[in-house]
Amino acid sequence: MKKITILIPAYNEEEVLQPLFERLNSLTNSKEMKKYSWEYLFVNDGSRDNTVSIIKAEIEKENKSKNRKTSLIDLSRNFGKERAMAAGIDACNSDALIFIDADLQDPPELIPEMINLWNEGYDDVYAKRNSRAGESFVKKFTSKMYYNVIQSVSDIQIQKDTGDFRLLDKKCIDALKSVQEKTRN
Ligand code: UDP
Ligand code: MG
Repeated sequence: MKKITILIPAYNEEEVLQPLFERLNSLTNSKEMKKYSWEYLFVNDGSRDNTVSIIKAEIEKENKSKNRKTSLIDLSRNFGKERAMAAGIDACNSDALIFIDADLQDPPELIPEMINLWNEGYDDVYAKRNSRAGESFVKKFTSKMYYNVIQSVSDIQIQKDTGDFRLLDKKCIDALKSVQEKTRN
């Protein structure tokens, strides 16, 4: 079974977490998506509200129902979204990684389409919001292009780019991990 991690950086997101869990669960419990093993990997980026306790309560609930999906990296303070995502990338050992913001501005319902493209062999699939509200389109890259991009942009740009609503194959995750390793200071 292929494992897919959904990585969610979270800074003071108590208000959106319940609807987020509901939307993610209805997606991952759907017939088509049930054939994957899912992880929701939250990186708490030093939230000062109830973000952590809500995530921990969800983990408890999942443990009881033996349907474990949620995990948590709890950073010691607020490092900013890029560093929070880097922590999640380092921790990820899945076949694919999907980045999504907690605020649901990008619809999780697009994820099956991104996964279909991944299954067709695209290693880097991302959805961009259109200027017209509610509309999205999906872009895709093959790995060759991806490595060219990685080599031609600065480290900071790589970090920023990962902030889009995006799916990366394991190959790209490993490439990002090694870039992060080289640039860490
Ligand atoms: N975020 C974070 N650390 C921060 C700021 C934001 O982890 O210091 C997270 C936030 O919880 C959300 C995502 O990054 O999941 C995007 O944040 P936000 O919606 O504020 O950014 P914008 O929509 O303006 O890009
Ligand atoms: Mg936002």
